[in-house]
Amino acid sequence: MFKTKFIITVDTEADNQWARPSGEKVDNIYLLPRFQELCQRFGLPPTYLVTYEVAADSRSVSLLRSFQDEGAEIGAHLHPWTTPPFILDRDYERIAHRFPHELSDSELKDKVAALTQIVAKNFGQPVSFRAGRWGFDDRVAKEIVRQGYLIDCSVTPKISWRTTRGDPNKEGGPDYSRESLYPYDREGILEVPLTVVSTNLLIKENGLFLKLYNQWLEGFIKRVFNKLIFRIRPLRIFPETTKRDLESIVKSAIHNKLPVIQFMIHSSELMPGGSKYAKTTDDVDRTYQKLEDLFSFVVEKGIEGVTLKEYRQKSSD
Ligand SMILES: [Zn+2]
Repeated sequence: MFKTKFIITVDTEADNQWARPSGEKVDNIYLLPRFQELCQRFGLPPTYLVTYEVAADSRSVSLLRSFQDEGAEIGAHLHPWTTPPFILDRDYERIAHRFPHELSDSELKDKVAALTQIVAKNFGQPVSFRAGRWGFDDRVAKEIVRQGYLIDCSVTPKISWRTTRGDPNKEGGPDYSRESLYPYDREGILEVPLTVVSTNLLIKENGLFLKLYNQWLEGFIKRVFNKLIFRIRPLRIFPETTKRDLESIVKSAIHNKLPVIQFMIHSSELMPGGSKYAKTTDDVDRTYQKLEDLFSFVVEKGIEGVTLKEYRQKSSD
């Protein structure tokens, strides 16, 4: 019988990518050994999805290569505003932070190629991909398939990014409110969505009730329902996330027989002042405490940790 697997994905990117304009300093990467050691201690191999600026920094490359030797996977993460070639004004790019699905066909092709090439040169051909700001659609899927990718993890079921802006002349982020949280094939790529579940165990994830509910338009009432009745939570760590929240997500995933549970974090969340989520050393320590709580619970439940690539191999066996 196929048992639930656990995947850790890390958006491995420059410091403070929420700032406008954003910079390209990668100091947070040098602090990653603490995170890697924690994952190693629990036997849960992470998948680092690296941006162009990280793959272009030699100190980051040698660190990440040592993680790779310990069983971590290196995939690619496309931030259009830091990935060449640049045909638009750099200042504009660093402020707008266009979503990958907003790029023209040729920009998309060329930026994916540049990113893939530098990751391949330093770590070997990447097979796992995540779009910056979750900006993914079928056109991006087709392009990454053409460039050798096998797995994508850019989908956040139940969450719509419509009100998040990239290119001011376009429609905003994708609406994933109707997406499945079970892995599926999309344009020839294995889509492994972020785990976003209802932690109300009375609600069945693949039942008709939740399917109908997910089709309901976004708005104030839905946000209230999400919070109070469905208690929908993504498997991430926010300042307000508790140990109980993290455990309830894992419990719900098991209850709903998800083949895979996917947690995500940004590398910059692990540096004081590196993100909007952790400003001080104490904040970072609190994040580490929650990571330990989550990882302990996963191990206690007998769930095996795998990288994205390993997951694909095992699920096709
Ligand atoms: Zn990112």
